[in-house]
Amino acid sequence: MKLIALPAFSDNYLWLWQQGKHAVVVDPGDDAPVFEALARHELTLTAILVTHHHADHVGGVAQLHQATGAHVYGPAREEVPAPFTPVMSGDTLNLLGQTVQVIDVPGHTAGHVAYFLPDALPHPVVFCGDTLFSGGCGRIFEGTPAQMLASLDALAALPGNTQVCCAHEYTLGNLRFALAVEPDNTDLQAYTAQCQQRRANGQPTLPAQLGNELQINPFLRSRHPVVRRAVAQHAHLSFDEENNDVAVFAALRQWKNDFK
Ligand SMILES: [Zn+2]
Repeated sequence: MKLIALPAFSDNYLWLWQQGKHAVVVDPGDDAPVFEALARHELTLTAILVTHHHADHVGGVAQLHQATGAHVYGPAREEVPAPFTPVMSGDTLNLLGQTVQVIDVPGHTAGHVAYFLPDALPHPVVFCGDTLFSGGCGRIFEGTPAQMLASLDALAALPGNTQVCCAHEYTLGNLRFALAVEPDNTDLQAYTAQCQQRRANGQPTLPAQLGNELQINPFLRSRHPVVRRAVAQHAHLSFDEENNDVAVFAALRQWKNDFK
């Protein structure tokens, strides 16, 4: 299978997954870049996967569905602007010969789901919408910090070689914050230099590699003693709060929200 990141709006990626002359698109917030890519590569759109209801993820769903007849799958607990098959954790789809496992990842929105392809070659792939970003995570709009932490834990448990297809090019901004949290993390320093180079060359920093994210992403490292201490100092947490995983994670997310 081949993964194509279609840039849209100011910093979105619409992920197109191609197999032979067929394709699946994930979170088409805009239809134009998808129609253009289908025409350029002479592809038939087989299915549309939606991770959550935000407009920059579903804005092109209705037009693409109408024009191509592609089947739409979306989160069971959210609205999608086209007829769709609702999916949730435990559901398995088979698309373009790939097994697709649905994982509930609430937090950014109440019903957010991710799509995991365990048998994809050369490496497993996860489409995680706005839950996990390279070096960061989504804002908590509808869920709770406890839900978001559990959702990130579920993604962190996937195989280390999983390619993480995030929906936004937020990496450099996230890494600037990550370095404020962990200035002495040498993996983080090296990865930042690598991503700066990629952006300077006009390339996406994505997909990210999950194993690397575990070494550099503060939101996957909130239980690490160094991160915990940095958050406790920044947010003036009490001893009890510093030893409470959810309290530390919530304070870390708040720190990022306020970070300039
Ligand atoms: Zn969103």
